Amino acid sequence: MQEILEFINSGEYRIEADWISKNTFAHIVPLENLIVLNITLLVAEAFVHEYMHDKYPYLSEKAIIKKTTRMMNRMTVPQIHTVAQKVMDQIELN
Ligand SMILES: [Zn+2]
Repeated sequence: MQEILEFINSGEYRIEADWISKNTFAHIVPLENLIVLNITLLVAEAFVHEYMHDKYPYLSEKAIIKKTTRMMNRMTVPQIHTVAQKVMDQIELN
């Protein structure tokens, strides 16, 4: 844990948020000292996962992950952006 914080604090890598692709949460470009986080996909997929828990409370974690993956694969890129944006609009800041 401490090593990760030191890595972040070192400023060796710039961290950016950008869309990458439907199946890439993040990537690293060592030659550019850049780490890109696909915040849109992270938020949308995490939310769909929790939505599946609400819709199918009796299913196992494994089954929920499977259903989430299936739904994410059916969603278009614009739909993923819409879900992520709606979720971020409703996030309550603590
Ligand atoms: Zn879960």
